[in-house]
Amino acid sequence: MKIVMLGAPGAGKGTQAVNIAKEYNIPHISTGDIFRANIKNQTELGMKAKEYMDKGALVPDEITIGMLLSRIADKDCDNGFVLDGFPRTIPQAESLKKALKEQGAKIDCAVDIEVPDEDIINRMSGRRSCPNCGGTYHVTFNPPKQEGICDACGTELVQRADDKPETVLQRLKTYHEQTQPLIEFYENEGVLVTVDGTKKPSEVLEDILGALK
Ligand code: ADP
Ligand code: ADP
Ligand code: ZN
Repeated sequence: MKIVMLGAPGAGKGTQAVNIAKEYNIPHISTGDIFRANIKNQTELGMKAKEYMDKGALVPDEITIGMLLSRIADKDCDNGFVLDGFPRTIPQAESLKKALKEQGAKIDCAVDIEVPDEDIINRMSGRRSCPNCGGTYHVTFNPPKQEGICDACGTELVQRADDKPETVLQRLKTYHEQTQPLIEFYENEGVLVTVDGTKKPSEVLEDILGALK
């Protein structure tokens, strides 16, 4: 199963991608997580990406596309993957389509999680992230069992630098301008599934798994 997650920053892509990956036993690939790991390790790619991420802008396609295509060429992607945060531009979607086509494959499903802009700021201000395994929590909407600690791996949770309100507003603007057109792209491909992201996380998951079957 080859799945793409769509939706605004904070819509719940990461939260649901982890669950979908578990259900289908396929890797969860988050371009944001890959960039953050590169920043932590102070790689050249990380230093370049950080400039854009701090501003709430997208990392240029020249950097992002190659990085993602090389990741999905890894052996663990043979049975599929859940992409979380990629594609975010039409050229990214076209490049992915072309690369898969060369192997006689395609995206099976694009899951668009819909959440109104008004809800996004609240979600982002309470988001807590696991810097080790990519787990995502919310202080009130989806708290970990032990405050401040990742349920999955026991690492101390952090607040992301780009989750402050000014940057979130810029990221939302970037989303509407550059990423939202992908909804129509995947609708035209005949693989779009839309779910109501304002429900409880467990209900959103149920809706997604139901649609994938
Ligand atoms: P969120 O989960 O809130 O949507 P991500 O972790 O996916 O955020 O992304 C964080 C930042 O990393 C983005 O704001 C952007 O700067 C950069 N980024 C992630 N994926 C991409 C991509 N496919 N293309 C360009 N930039 C990206
Ligand atoms: P994205 O990857 O799309 O940026 P996340 O999965 O990181 O989104 O979710 C953003 C924040 O909203 C996190 O703090 C997460 O715990 C919380 N969240 C996710 N799904 C829901 C939901 N259905 N209802 C309320 N809060 C949610
Ligand atoms: Zn963790």
